[in-house]
Amino acid sequence: MRGRAASLPDLRACVAGVQGIIYGLPQTWFCGAAPQHFLLCANMETGNERIRALCLLSGGLDGQLAICVLKEQGIEVQAVTFESPFFSGAKAKAAADQLGVTHHLIGFTGDIVQILKGPKHGFGANLNPCIDCHIQMLRRAGALMTELGFHFLATGEVLNQRPMSQNPQALALVARESGCEEVLVRPLSATRLPETEPERRGWVDRGKLLGLEGRMRKPQLELAEKYRLKDFPSPAGGCLLTEPNFCIRLKDLMTHEGLNGTRNIELLRIGRHLRLSPTIKLIVGRNERDNAALEGAAELYDLLLKTEGVPGPTGLLPLTACEAEIELAAAICARYSDSSPEKAVTVRVRSTRGTKRLEVRPCQAEQADSYRI
Ligand code: SF4
Repeated sequence: MRGRAASLPDLRACVAGVQGIIYGLPQTWFCGAAPQHFLLCANMETGNERIRALCLLSGGLDGQLAICVLKEQGIEVQAVTFESPFFSGAKAKAAADQLGVTHHLIGFTGDIVQILKGPKHGFGANLNPCIDCHIQMLRRAGALMTELGFHFLATGEVLNQRPMSQNPQALALVARESGCEEVLVRPLSATRLPETEPERRGWVDRGKLLGLEGRMRKPQLELAEKYRLKDFPSPAGGCLLTEPNFCIRLKDLMTHEGLNGTRNIELLRIGRHLRLSPTIKLIVGRNERDNAALEGAAELYDLLLKTEGVPGPTGLLPLTACEAEIELAAAICARYSDSSPEKAVTVRVRSTRGTKRLEVRPCQAEQADSYRI
């Protein structure tokens, strides 16, 4: 890492170097962390210290393979995963368990929300700001690396596997802008990329790293078999910011309510969303699970709508909705209930102000559809 403070491994490397001089051991490396000291550092492989790497892991196959490739060299590997309402760490946790490596799960919501407000390097095909997201994840991983005394970082990235974020320029940019250029190894494509500092120092044997490139998955599947990896999700998916339908809702939220707080983001995953006006959005459950989730999510400043006498959805509406909007929301809930379109339906409207009941006719299907986000 250019210009960074000496990390724990660097300092230990210095100590090992001094000890090496005293005991007459062969010295091979200058201390990269503090060259001004002119200390000869011990090659870590001769310093009796096990090399430790921190690998970013989303739970997919590539990250798991990167860990296997490093472990095969006798390197101690731990995994770090970043979590937000857009991507969960559950699969990564299961993968880390399968691999038998310690797993660090780090909250990333504040980081990704900030990035979404104006990504320096733009969005991918949807609202996925992958380059900025990678940069920030590596920055946070770099900080954790220093804090916990790892020697270097690793990722499961494969050169040219993803057109936007894994082409040579993007890989170089991400490494440079994250400040991790000198401590970042990409074991799956390493031999096709410039040699890194951990390789030069002999912490990683470049000869045992791989040279994968492109979108073909065959080599990875063969490696999965070699390392006996069984549970791994498909390479696509996992991040809601790459899903077109989710991104339509997210864009609507960004335009109207903004990205303040996580609750509105969490709600994007539940039910049908209908924009009744620039300030009023109705969420209607699609099934029992959605209905329960909406009831659980309701807060002081919400209205909860529920059909009575006929099975129907739960609706969630802001308390600021006017009478006409509440009636419209009730008619939409009635439309999604089991009632026949001609029959009047009673809809209970509950809030901190109390409970009232409205008699409404279900609205036309086309009318409900016209509000759908
Ligand atoms: S796919 Fe999602 S989690 Fe992955 S880098 Fe892109 S924005 Fe970040």
